[in-house]
Order: sequence, then structure tokens, then C-alpha cells
Amino acid sequence: MTRLIFLGPPGAGKGTQASKLAKDCQIPHISTGDILRAAVSQKTDLGMKAQSYMERGELVPDQLILDLVRDRLSQSDASNGWILDGFPRTVNQATFLEQLLSRINQICECVVNFDVPDEIVVSRMLERGQREHRSDDTEETIRRRLEVYREQTQPLIDFYRDRQQLVSVDGSRAIEQVTENLKQIVHP
Ligand code: AMP
Repeated sequence: MTRLIFLGPPGAGKGTQASKLAKDCQIPHISTGDILRAAVSQKTDLGMKAQSYMERGELVPDQLILDLVRDRLSQSDASNGWILDGFPRTVNQATFLEQLLSRINQICECVVNFDVPDEIVVSRMLERGQREHRSDDTEETIRRRLEVYREQTQPLIDFYRDRQQLVSVDGSRAIEQVTENLKQIVHP
């Protein structure tokens, strides 16, 4: 059973690695960013409400995110494991998740922290913005997303370290090297 949380700044490579590993383990890759982007492009109620926050690089309010995660984790394909990418992003979300998992009798094995210096993260995001036409991968929004990460998400490193769930990987290495590293963590 594989249940993992991928933590780290935007542009750290969480999505790339989560998608590869999830395929390998045949479990869903649950990216709240992907779910929100799909909602925006389909112009659903959720998408309309989330769009302006995403464009500014701010976090979408918890009232939109928490129900979404609860529903996603209760779907049948998530009963055999999952990789959460981009959630939780605040201590409040992490506390919510902890309570949710205990209620549905699931345990998250470990939280993988992707350690990557700012310069690398910024250049990766700028490249991705050009490649994928992501409207939030522009210089100004990137700067704001990094601030938001530092203020609201970085405290989760201590949160999970205190719970002895934290494992770090050097996310600045090449994609294949990070993949190898993750495999050693997940299937030692
Ligand atoms: P990501 O693809 O994970 O970088 O997410 C893109 C954007 O979606 C973020 O900048 C936020 O605006 C929003 N978002 C994604 N996940 C969350 C979350 N867990 N809580 C709040 N906002 C989120």
C-alpha cells in the first residue's frame, strides 16, 4: 500500500515525479492544482470561484479545497493508495487531512519533501510557463507563489518532521535521479 504526500515549492518537480510513481504503483496521482485547472477550463462553479486566486498566485480558500479532497479520497480508486501532490498546503489543511485519514482508517506512510533552491525553481517555472502556457507561470506570479509557499506551506516541513513522517529528496537533481531516489524510499 502506497500513500504519500509530496511537499515542496512550486516547480520542484512534484507533479512530474508523482505522475511517474503513481503509474508505477497503479494508484491515483491526486493533484489539487490539476483538478482546479480542469475546473477552470470547464468553467464549473468551482473553477469560476478558484480562477482569480490562481491567477494571482494566491491559495484558493479552504472551503473550496477541503470538500474536493474529501470526495476525491473517498472514491474507490483511492482505496488502494494515492499520491497527494499540492495538498496539504497549510497547517489547517494538514490538520484536516490528519483527521480525515484517521476517520477513514488510512495512514499516510510518508511525506516527501522536495528540496530545491529558489533559482532552480524559478527557471523551471518560467520554462514550464512557455511550454504549457500556464497563466500562473509568469515572473510576477511566480514570485508571489514562492512567497505564499514560504509563509503558508513551509511550516508543514516542521509539522511533519515533528510527526516523524518527513523524508527529504534533493529535487535539484535530474528527473531520472530523483525518480531513483524516490523508488528507494518507497520500495526500499
Ligand atoms: P499547483 O499546480 O499545485 O502549483 O497549484 C496551482 C494553483 O492552484 C496554486 O497556486 C493555488 O492557487 C491553487 N491550489 C492548488 N492546490 C491548492 C491547495 N491545496 N490549497 C489552495 N490552493 C491550491
